[in-house]
Amino acid sequence: MGFGYHLPAVSGIIDLFLCGALGVNVTSMNEAAETKVCPHCAETIKAAAKVCPNCRFWQKRWSWHNPYVAVILSILALFTVCVPFAILLDQTLGSKTKFATYRDDIMVVSSQLSHRISEGNTMNTVIGTLTNRSEVAWKEVAVETEFFDKSGKQIDAITVRADDYHGPVILPHGEVVFKIEGRAARPEADYENYKVRVRWAKDVDAWP
Ligand SMILES: [Zn+2]
Repeated sequence: MGFGYHLPAVSGIIDLFLCGALGVNVTSMNEAAETKVCPHCAETIKAAAKVCPNCRFWQKRWSWHNPYVAVILSILALFTVCVPFAILLDQTLGSKTKFATYRDDIMVVSSQLSHRISEGNTMNTVIGTLTNRSEVAWKEVAVETEFFDKSGKQIDAITVRADDYHGPVILPHGEVVFKIEGRAARPEADYENYKVRVRWAKDVDAWP
């Protein structure tokens, strides 16, 4: 309070007001500018002291240097960063949960199995059409196929690998064609029946 030296009366009033607001007792009007009583340990200390030399109590609570203020601000900053991140994470991971609720709305309309020989290997090829009865657009629609023999035993499958899969996008109330292929584990004659299933799909808005 630089101007206080020129206007002692005004300074005294300001000190009284400030100290009163901070709950600090003023011992006398003359000493008010130089000393104060620490509200924590009741020792008389210098008025300018930010930290009580006796008990280390912070005289001004809302100081940038006050470690307690720093801790509170750090927690607030952490929440500011964490909350949007948590929302993003929920949207990303939650897309699978969302698919689970719409699972029955993505249906295989038609499909066809064929076999071909490629470089000495028999390949099972399934092509077909999917329909989306939901209001949600889906991406990376993953289709799997199971194969059965005459006795109904599962003999082979075309599965999708989650790590490098880029399936088609299917719009609300839209249709999309798909083609999946896998090397046959059995001779062609063993393939009596097959079942096509949508394994998963991601909400188009989901990240990534
Ligand atoms: Zn103290």
